[in-house]
Amino acid sequence: MFVFDSEDFDGHEQVVFASDPDTGLKAIIAIHDTSNGPALGGCRMWNYATESEALRDVLRLSRGMTYKAAISRLPLGGGKSVIIGDARSQKTPELMRAMGRAVERLRGRYIVAEDVGTSVEDMAAICTETAHVVGRPADRGGSGDPSPFTAYGCLVGIRAALDHLGRADGLRGARVAIQGLGHVGWHLAGLLAEAGARLIVSDIRPEIVERAVRTFGAEAIAVDEIHTADVDVFAPCALGAVINDRTIPALKARIVAGSANNQLAEGRHGAVLRQRGVLYAPDYVVNAGGLMNVAAELGTYDATAVRRRIEGIYDTLMDIFARADRQGIPTNAAADRIAEERFRRHRRAGKIMAA
Ligand code: NAD
Repeated sequence: MFVFDSEDFDGHEQVVFASDPDTGLKAIIAIHDTSNGPALGGCRMWNYATESEALRDVLRLSRGMTYKAAISRLPLGGGKSVIIGDARSQKTPELMRAMGRAVERLRGRYIVAEDVGTSVEDMAAICTETAHVVGRPADRGGSGDPSPFTAYGCLVGIRAALDHLGRADGLRGARVAIQGLGHVGWHLAGLLAEAGARLIVSDIRPEIVERAVRTFGAEAIAVDEIHTADVDVFAPCALGAVINDRTIPALKARIVAGSANNQLAEGRHGAVLRQRGVLYAPDYVVNAGGLMNVAAELGTYDATAVRRRIEGIYDTLMDIFARADRQGIPTNAAADRIAEERFRRHRRAGKIMAA
């Protein structure tokens, strides 16, 4: 396994391997960039097949957080952590507390929050060991589950994409295919239904699909067909890498906008979407609502200010779409350039200050 020269490493400031034999903790904490503030990012618990897979995942996710914080104009850097293990059978409060001690040893360079496989309750366990944790429950001074805020950001993002394509009625009557009805997808379905959109949904859990059909009048579609649905918007809210060489030719949607991280299997798929006339709303812009909400816990939490900031996703996307059109580049490249300009400016300023 080579690390420093791998594409995923991308100049990470620090990568920490943390273990606690008593609780079985095996974790990796990756800090990509702290030039604009402490690295904030969720802790994912996943049953990775190999340690290399876990390392690759944490590096990719951590780098993505730097871009997400920069594009969202938050005074934060990018980081992420993973715990290797099955969240259903191996997660215990003791293990999460051991994770809290690992976070504490970084003295605030990394701030942890929930992610796939971890929850608000886990953040409550972590906060017995460290103050560097957000997404805590309300009775621990936190703002709770970030998913409804992420879903609201997705709604704003979908509205921006529809407006950019000149759809006169906006969300009313728009057809949206949601892949994954988990924490974010379910809330998004509710918001879209309320706004008058028509939904097509899929999930590997049939019971949640049935509930969406009953609750929102959604139409169900098979898991392996959701990307082929005849809709205006495809909203990936489950897995990464769903936009790939196999799925792109079958896409009928003119817009891809959803919450899943790393939706493009490879960066070049952004260009393929553009060639096919599909508008891609970059994932880390659309799904930043949860980060904006948990970041607000670091100051005096103000729900109205959080909502206003999330609504700013609309203008951020409009800038990205305009820049992509002006420069003839894919939207993911336009977003990356804007984010890079920002965090590199902070990096340079930091070096000048330190000199
Ligand atoms: P979740 O685990 O609650 O939900 C995922 C859902 O997808 C589950 O219902 C699962 O059954 C379903 N699913 C899994 N494989 C599927 C498949 N092949 N086809 C259809 N459905 C499938 O996760 P979540 O918190 O809702 O997050 C969803 C995505 O958004 C993830 O990629 C996550 O990284 C990203 N994200 C979440 C947040 C947040 O605030 N929760 C913030 C930013 C990004």
